[in-house]
Amino acid sequence: MFEFFNIPEAVQETGEVAAIVTALFLILFSLYEIISGQTQGGKKTWNDWAMSGISLGFLAALQRPVLTVVVFLLMAWLFPAYNGAMAWLETQYFWPTLIIFLLVDEYLHGRTHLFAHSRKPKNRLLGKVQGFYKAAHRPHHLNGGQDKRGEISSSQTFVENWAWWLILPNYWFGLACLYLGLYEVFLWGSLSKVVWGMHVHTNWKWQYDLWLLNHRNSFVRKSMRALCHIFTFPNMHHHHHSRSANSAKNMTNFISIFDWLLWGTLKIETERPEVYGWRQYDTESASVLHRFFRSTEPLKDPHRGENASAHASQK
Ligand SMILES: [Zn+2]
Ligand SMILES: [Zn+2]
Repeated sequence: MFEFFNIPEAVQETGEVAAIVTALFLILFSLYEIISGQTQGGKKTWNDWAMSGISLGFLAALQRPVLTVVVFLLMAWLFPAYNGAMAWLETQYFWPTLIIFLLVDEYLHGRTHLFAHSRKPKNRLLGKVQGFYKAAHRPHHLNGGQDKRGEISSSQTFVENWAWWLILPNYWFGLACLYLGLYEVFLWGSLSKVVWGMHVHTNWKWQYDLWLLNHRNSFVRKSMRALCHIFTFPNMHHHHHSRSANSAKNMTNFISIFDWLLWGTLKIETERPEVYGWRQYDTESASVLHRFFRSTEPLKDPHRGENASAHASQK
């Protein structure tokens, strides 16, 4: 497919390396969860595994290749002279370019995520757009059964509906950087983001961040609390997945500076959430295909007030 659209071989190679490393880490985290018993007792259901499988399958086979072709064609049309033209940037200034790439990517990701969690905008068109983003993100907050025993796991990182990856601006940004020739920056940036993202979703039996946040030495406690203002740690993202007001907090997976300084959505708790995941409608609980393809429909259900906690109060 890539040859047909005249996309450089290096793009395909970069994508393959990223996919292999991601798959290896996902297997590692999942094995840890299985061996340590963190998938037992209703914590992870068959539907959770199936939903992860569908989401990952579509991402690898359809969404990612299609998006790559669309962004490359668009960039070639808009900036024909810039194909690979910025490669010198990573050769000469690798670390500054990587840091800027990560900051921009994480800002775009977090801001879009915040939009999907915010109250409905007054503008009608914007309201409709937001409704689509909300629906696309909804499956990410559904896990376990209706018995409140469900907890999140590393594979939940990839669970969204069919549209989410296509409408995330940071994906478009990353692929545009790839067009410009930033292969190494794209590879290391994407991998550090996805591996950190999986680690914050992992259902740790022993949670190192909670251990540090509750340490008897106050210097250790305070240092960890300070670090939580820069990076997102597992319990912070677990609370984003909780069935509580904290579900509207901690919008980033990796760099929490934006939550802290821009959006006022940073929340550092010292205990795990009581209940994980939003309330599931019967149709969602019964069918993963419904969750993946038709997640817009439950929002029209009269019980929607249950999810009010999912809205962020914007500052
Ligand atoms: Zn969310
Ligand atoms: Zn998540």
